[in-house]
Amino acid sequence: MLRKLDSSDLALNTATLGHILDGHGAGWSPSQVIDACAARGFGGITWWRRELGDQALQIGEQTRAAGLRVSGLCRAPFLVGPGSAATRSAVVDDMRVAIDQCAALGAESLTVVVGGVVEQSRGVQPSLDQLTDILAATVTHADQCDVRLGLEPLHPVYAGNRSCLVSVRDTIDILQQIAAPALGIAVDVYHVWWDTSLDSQLQRLDATAIFGLHICDWLADTGDILLDRGMMGDGVADIPAIRAAVEGRGYQGLCEVEIFSANDWWKRPPDEVLDTALARFVSCC
Ligand code: ZN
Repeated sequence: MLRKLDSSDLALNTATLGHILDGHGAGWSPSQVIDACAARGFGGITWWRRELGDQALQIGEQTRAAGLRVSGLCRAPFLVGPGSAATRSAVVDDMRVAIDQCAALGAESLTVVVGGVVEQSRGVQPSLDQLTDILAATVTHADQCDVRLGLEPLHPVYAGNRSCLVSVRDTIDILQQIAAPALGIAVDVYHVWWDTSLDSQLQRLDATAIFGLHICDWLADTGDILLDRGMMGDGVADIPAIRAAVEGRGYQGLCEVEIFSANDWWKRPPDEVLDTALARFVSCC
């Protein structure tokens, strides 16, 4: 039986307000976001690096002073594939900068979207092998900084250019191969809603290895795979079943609403988005 939810179980991923892309969203400052979340009794905020600049320490303190947890930081640089740094050592350096920023912010985890398929390779396995090598090379620094890295498998449609890691199965394989407590998984409804093996795969995990649960909905007639996520209740994902699978493994963290929606929610007033997200969270998740 799922426990009843209230506002303190919900974290805002600030992408939901359109902050991650130029020209989108209402342009709220971090202070406005903190005040709006605190006023609604939210449990936490997950920030994006572009919002922090060199203010990670201050924004982290300000978030906690308002009674909110800093549930996460989005996101690590791509570690493999298009858009990753040119050399292995540059990738490792970039990752260390992100880990240091996460430590300054005091976020509970750094979300890792791993990057797509390595140039001139075929299939995902060579890329996953390279990814495993780079993760093993960076996880020690994360551990030393008390930063947890949440690997987020993306929907398979992104495998080419954003994430060669597309299944919970492959993610857990990597976690078990590296076997470091600072490395875990972030489960996002948008990316796993189709996966009938979610529950059985999560059974392979240590209970402490789930670092995040991201919620939204998959619109049956989605118009854009990146920027047309649905509000909870508007789509076809079985969110309570996903939550049951994740919490059934012992996850006790916040549920983080993360909605990329260029033509719908990002065009609405942030107060309306936050009120709707909270209402749907309590009624649909
Ligand atoms: Zn996510």
